[in-house]
Amino acid sequence: MPEGPTVKKWGTMAGQFLGRSVVTTGGNTKKVDLQMLQGLCFTDIQVHGKQMFMKFTTDPSAQTSIQVWLRYHFGMWGTLRVNELKSLSNSALYRARYIQDPKPRVVLYFGDEEFLAFYGCSVQQIEAPLIDEETDVLLDSFNVEKSTSFLRQEKPVCHLLLDQRQFAGVGNIVKNEALYSSRLHPMQLGSTLSSEKALELVEAVGDFAKKWVKDGTPYSPMRDLSIYCKKACPLGHKVVRDMLGHEEFARITYWCAWCQPMQPTAPSTEFAEEVQAETSGEKSSDTLLAEGSPKWPIVMLKETSPGSHLYA
Ligand SMILES: [Zn+2]
Repeated sequence: MPEGPTVKKWGTMAGQFLGRSVVTTGGNTKKVDLQMLQGLCFTDIQVHGKQMFMKFTTDPSAQTSIQVWLRYHFGMWGTLRVNELKSLSNSALYRARYIQDPKPRVVLYFGDEEFLAFYGCSVQQIEAPLIDEETDVLLDSFNVEKSTSFLRQEKPVCHLLLDQRQFAGVGNIVKNEALYSSRLHPMQLGSTLSSEKALELVEAVGDFAKKWVKDGTPYSPMRDLSIYCKKACPLGHKVVRDMLGHEEFARITYWCAWCQPMQPTAPSTEFAEEVQAETSGEKSSDTLLAEGSPKWPIVMLKETSPGSHLYA
């Protein structure tokens, strides 16, 4: 799944056409009448988490004023190509993605052989972007205090970190790397974290996501990652790989049992104390994991396609 840093890069790529008019359109979306964009000028672009917003308006000199906002969400397989369409490839990874969505959802032509092609995304027309800048992990306005409080719920941290309402832009890579950096077990309940540990995790999320933007994509130079898709952690321990989480937040997760043990951290808030009472506070890490809570089972799923774990 594209994560915030990747979508931000795509926003920069798409931004090269700002100020240009849409000549014609293509794509198989049924959600938006793309023809209405023809002749309109691409005047603004915003990226928030995994969403991209594009604004199209009439020329200021025109007699009538039209303003259209499109919202793209790239989902699990979405991608953006500039001045090129996807072509068949022998790579298993490509085949997996090709099967998911062989046709571009949206194509916006700005000139001969100058276009943006959106694949595998959902697109819709909206009034205007609704953005809470305090939830975007890539922005300086990201609210660390609020996010720290959000984390201290009776849910596994691997689940909470993927909640875009508070951690917009965080995907599976950021999640796994931040958890390793904070030495936290993915199934640790947020309610058992001390405020200091929760803050450490929130800061690790922001640090990794911003470093990703600064250094480029971590997909190919995997050497820069500590735990994601690794067989051994940086200290040489065997990495465990399993599907963890629940419902829409179930993802293949990587962790080191030695570096990231389940911690019986004493909670300090009233809410967390209630949680501790329910779990008796004496359980070993194994018990906590096994009996955890029927609401948050370890979900075991088969991979749907070759290479899908790279984008889970
Ligand atoms: Zn380790």
